[in-house]
Amino acid sequence: MLDVNDKINPLDVALRQVDIASEKLKLDPGLVERTKLTKRELTVHFPVKMDDGSIKVFTGFRVQHNVTRGPAKGGIRYHPDVDLDEVRALAMWMTWKAAVVNIPFGGAKGGVECDPKSLSLRELENMTRRFTWEIAMMIGPDQDIPAPDVYTNPQVMAWIMDTYSTLKGYSVHGVVTGKPLQLGGSLGRLEATGKGVFITGQEAARHLNIQLEGARVAIQGCGNVGGIAAQYFDKAGAKVIGISDSKGGIYNKNGLNVSEVLNCKKRYSCFIPEELRGGDTITNSELLELECDILVPCALENQITNRNASKIKTKIIVEGANGPTTTEADEIIHDRGFFIVPDILANAGGVTVSYFEWVQNLQELLWSEEEISERLTRILTRSFSEVLNISQKEKVNMRTAALMLGIERVAEATRLRGIYP
Ligand code: NAD
Repeated sequence: MLDVNDKINPLDVALRQVDIASEKLKLDPGLVERTKLTKRELTVHFPVKMDDGSIKVFTGFRVQHNVTRGPAKGGIRYHPDVDLDEVRALAMWMTWKAAVVNIPFGGAKGGVECDPKSLSLRELENMTRRFTWEIAMMIGPDQDIPAPDVYTNPQVMAWIMDTYSTLKGYSVHGVVTGKPLQLGGSLGRLEATGKGVFITGQEAARHLNIQLEGARVAIQGCGNVGGIAAQYFDKAGAKVIGISDSKGGIYNKNGLNVSEVLNCKKRYSCFIPEELRGGDTITNSELLELECDILVPCALENQITNRNASKIKTKIIVEGANGPTTTEADEIIHDRGFFIVPDILANAGGVTVSYFEWVQNLQELLWSEEEISERLTRILTRSFSEVLNISQKEKVNMRTAALMLGIERVAEATRLRGIYP
């Protein structure tokens, strides 16, 4: 049992998940060992000129977990808590995620330990450009393709693409995904992850015979993933009763006015006083314990732990965030009969449309929004049903089923390629 002061290492959670799924798959111990270790890791310490003339040294990471099925793929995070183990865990989840939706990518992740909210735009650009230069030896359209993650966005991707292109001497659109449309970004990429969370949540509701119309939805985090997911649930007639950001959240049992709440957040960078937003303030822990039908964590890792898992009152958990649930909490939730759509399936819409963006960049094609939406929906509904089938056939929860699917696809690719020399 965890103590209140224990910090949970996301890598421990990711490794434990591999153990559980590999045991079910009866995977060769050598393959399990390979699966648990990352392929390549780079730690960089680099200086950045700040606005006041001082020099600040930042620490950043790029980790490639596995490239057996294709080039490494994964976001870049700017956050004070970024460390090597977190990046390793996130890279590993990217490998399984790409395999679950069966797209030809491996897994990677990157991050810089920083507080992006305290940086000016110029400092953010300087930091991004220097970090790109530092990791340029690892990235590239055929090697490793970054994308946005927590506190990075299309503008950051544009700076990465420009810096990398300057180094090469020509424009390399395919080096990142999640770019602005004007620089080879794809229609539908910005909303892809949140939309995927909605699509897989809808599939879960359908499976459990829960009507989305009127269903109560609570969402932790209202950035790219949570904010977009909130809009899709709202559009489908569900009641978004609670939503939060890093400072706390708001709640209205009759349903919030989602567009008003998100507009307030955009204008004021926080949720503004109660009278203007039609709800009561709640903390992030209270949000997770709201009585609802669908709970959607879309912020950071380790939000649902053995400390709060027994207090959760929902029917479905759709993990927009990566690693929001610890292994111990998983067991409690499973025993209590809640249905989980695990992160490597629920938030796979992002990497799926990133793949579409990369394909369009390499072939210099432009797909329509309808084409992208239709392909995304097809891939996610097929993957949901594949994971559900394994879960029913093998009598395991949805997380283990998704991991079994992902890990087995990577293992099979490894067997086919063989071991060099
Ligand atoms: P974002 O920067 O757009 O938004 C992050 C949100 O989390 C913000 O609303 C922020 O206020 C909130 N937040 C930060 N710290 C918090 C805390 N301690 N408690 C509660 N809320 C907190 O980031 P995002 O892209 O929406 O990513 C959110 C999650 O989704 C992450 O786990 C990320 O790895 C995962 N994810 C993102 C994508 C993508 O395409 N952006 C794809 C797959 C998975």
